Amino acid sequence: MAKLFIDGVWQAADGGETMPVFAPSTGQEIARIACAGASDVDRAVKAARRAVEGAWGRLTATERGRLMMRLAERILDHAQELTDLEARDTGKPMSQARADVQALARYFEYYGAAADKVHGDTIPYLNGYNIAIVKEPHGVTAHITPWNYPAQMFGRTLAPALAMGNATVIKPAEDACLSALRIVELAAEVGLPDGALNLVTGRGEEAGAALAAHPDINFISFTGSPEVGTLIQTAAARNHIGCTLELGGKSPQVVFADADMDLALPTVQKAIIQNAGQTCSAGSRLLVQRSVYDGFTERLAESFAKVRVGPHHIDPDCGPVINPAQRARVQGYIDRARADGIPVIAEAQYVPDLPAGGYYVLPTLFGPVPRGNALACEEVFGPVLSILPFEDEEDAVRLANATEYGLVAGVWTRDGAKAQRVARRIRSGQVFINCYGAGGGVELPFGGVKKSGHGREKGFMALEEFCVTKTVVNYHG
Ligand code: NAP
Ligand code: MG
Repeated sequence: MAKLFIDGVWQAADGGETMPVFAPSTGQEIARIACAGASDVDRAVKAARRAVEGAWGRLTATERGRLMMRLAERILDHAQELTDLEARDTGKPMSQARADVQALARYFEYYGAAADKVHGDTIPYLNGYNIAIVKEPHGVTAHITPWNYPAQMFGRTLAPALAMGNATVIKPAEDACLSALRIVELAAEVGLPDGALNLVTGRGEEAGAALAAHPDINFISFTGSPEVGTLIQTAAARNHIGCTLELGGKSPQVVFADADMDLALPTVQKAIIQNAGQTCSAGSRLLVQRSVYDGFTERLAESFAKVRVGPHHIDPDCGPVINPAQRARVQGYIDRARADGIPVIAEAQYVPDLPAGGYYVLPTLFGPVPRGNALACEEVFGPVLSILPFEDEEDAVRLANATEYGLVAGVWTRDGAKAQRVARRIRSGQVFINCYGAGGGVELPFGGVKKSGHGREKGFMALEEFCVTKTVVNYHG
């Protein structure tokens, strides 16, 4: 569908330009999408403005919520179709794509149900005054999403914005936007008013930049790299509007000597293999207490070597990465680490008959990684796990905090008090104790500190990001 979805209608981009979309599992072209330019983005923002001032803006919160819950049901009715589309477009294993589509539906269900439960307050003030605190939508919100979890990101950013009554424009990533193109159609089918949800595909530097800089948007929700995050925040500053930035991570998994190793092992592995490591909250730094370092590493190596890498449709443990540039980037980290003499502890394996044109890299386990090495501090965004030994609790906290990022952390220990102490001292948006994983929990506030960004998505808190507080002061004598 090489068209844009604006004001409830499929429209060609003004420039008429389209670009190919490739399947990471095979490298073959599977679709073409439209390349929006500034004039298309302007049309989408104007449609959103009309919606928020018109039919969409007049709906009650309950009516908005009902439409969203209907969309959730429609997504579930089309779960197989969306799963196939998502897996083909991103290369992720079928079972992971299936879970992502369930999460997408869950976002619309959760925020649909929440739409009429956000309310303001009154404040005691001077005699003769009634003070009402009212929650209002921003107006038109802009949403720019990455390619790693396209369906989930769609739900995560748009559902709370729509629940609060904003009209929206989304610019998904050019590498994986096929599920988004289908979801906006499903939304129209359940009766979402024209202009409430507009979709512009195209290049980040063109469509994305035009959207972020548009003078008539009122808020930006961005998920992606820290570099583009800086551009987004600069664009927001020029228009004096707010934004949330969900950026990358280099999240630590801290394994103490007293941890339940059987519990920790499969989770630690999954946290780096899932989505071929292209997860902002990937547990990409494994910190293991020195006294159990050899034993834990040995067991992990054994299971890591059994990880099967292959095309999405055979539902392997790990699929390809998103595109050739990402493959080169990840492979570059692996090659440099080897050249630096960092020991390879284990490598996964390719399935037989790997499609020749796919974008595959072999998941690799490195350790011990020197503390200052790039692999210990930079986000690889691929299936590369760095293991570092630590001495004691103090050292663990220091090491856990020793990157520019602060998104998620895992703490593994049977000592409840120690787990609490460490969790409080790690600087990150989420900490998991004896478990790990941000993906599933639609209910759990999520977001970063430091270079991982600011603002919170997911959970009830996300609704606060998508509204403004108005104080109405009424003197009644
Ligand atoms: P990216 O290059 O920053 O792209 C993210 C989005 O921004 C895409 O839609 C992209 O469009 C668009 N974009 C690119 N340049 C732009 C510009 N100049 N102005 C406006 N928009 C622009 O990131 P990515 O490579 O897709 O994703 C990988 C990064 O995202 C990693 O660092 C990862 O950690 C982070 N991430 C974070 C989270 C989180 O929740 N914290 C979740 C997922 C990913 P095009 O792709 O079409 O160019
Ligand atoms: Mg693709």
